[in-house]
Amino acid sequence: MTAKLVVEDFIRCTGHGRCYSEAPDLLDYDDEGFVSVRHAPLEITDADIEDAEAAVAACPEAALRIIEED
Ligand code: SF4
Repeated sequence: MTAKLVVEDFIRCTGHGRCYSEAPDLLDYDDEGFVSVRHAPLEITDADIEDAEAAVAACPEAALRIIEED
């Protein structure tokens, strides 16, 4: 199984930065403070899943989502 971390709703991401503060080893941010996955989904491994889940939980706008693929 593979999984991707995506910004499900582009408009909702307002650049609070809580996601990348929560998971700094996984996520980065652009020049305007938006999380890097706002521009491109990030493939995540089993080793990353805990960080990805923490990032999802930290987003006050519920903009992030993990999509699992077979
Ligand atoms: S995904 Fe959520 S926590 Fe991360 S920068 Fe966007 S609004 Fe902020």
